[in-house]
Amino acid sequence: MSATENPQDLVLLERVDAVAKITLNRPEVRNAQNGALLTQLDDAFVAVAEDDDVVVVMLGAAGDHFSAGHDIGRTRDAEIAFPRRATLQPSHVGRVGAEQRWTRESELYLGLCRRWRALPKPTIAVVQGACAGAGLMLAWCCDLIVASDDAYFVDPVVRMGVPGVEFFAHPWALGSRIAKEMLFTGSPISAERAREVGMVARVVARDQLDGTAQELASRIAAMPPFALQLAKYAVNHAEDLMGLNVGVDAAFGLHHLAHSNNVEIGLGSIGGMDAGSMSRFNKESS
Ligand code: ZN
Repeated sequence: MSATENPQDLVLLERVDAVAKITLNRPEVRNAQNGALLTQLDDAFVAVAEDDDVVVVMLGAAGDHFSAGHDIGRTRDAEIAFPRRATLQPSHVGRVGAEQRWTRESELYLGLCRRWRALPKPTIAVVQGACAGAGLMLAWCCDLIVASDDAYFVDPVVRMGVPGVEFFAHPWALGSRIAKEMLFTGSPISAERAREVGMVARVVARDQLDGTAQELASRIAAMPPFALQLAKYAVNHAEDLMGLNVGVDAAFGLHHLAHSNNVEIGLGSIGGMDAGSMSRFNKESS
């Protein structure tokens, strides 16, 4: 077993036999995603991609919640430069307006999600508690989702005047009708309902979550790695033939139209909302 468990790390990585486990490690802010966390998460995905001893990757989270989404609170680091690996976009730092948002989100949100979805190894998201907003993007990048029975999935960003999170996989993950219900209401979908519609593979009690995911990962890890890679790519390609990639691109354009409209009418890019008002809204919608 190898592990890096520096408490300063925003993302932890350990490996047991052929299974690597990546853990989001900002439980004090419900694993809200800022640039620093996403950069460390990419480091972890690169490490597991390059480690020939890793066959399957689990993506979990420390604390009571998988992820509250993008960090819009005090620890948001939107003005900080970050390494760019998924696209050839220049740095967003020093740019203004729609160009700044577009360059930052093209790389940090959409680009990295696509890069991680294409990891040449099976990935399992291990989800407890809130999987909100951009939390969905991380879960949807993974091939399988295992959830505790108290997990819930919610995209509340229509409240921000924006038509959904940046990696807009809702219709493919849920089906178009449930995607609309999720977006129109901002209400959470339970783990059990997510399982019924095929988005989640297993729902178990919280104390069985890690064990169930480990058992599933170990079973997959017994398969030939190259065949797993090809099977994954075959299904991902089928999803793309069903329109995922071009649908996400179209939605990303609308997403940025919405950010710009918000600014144009004087509300700021997220429609005048902040972490506190979104928290109140989410409580009313649940
Ligand atoms: Zn955005």
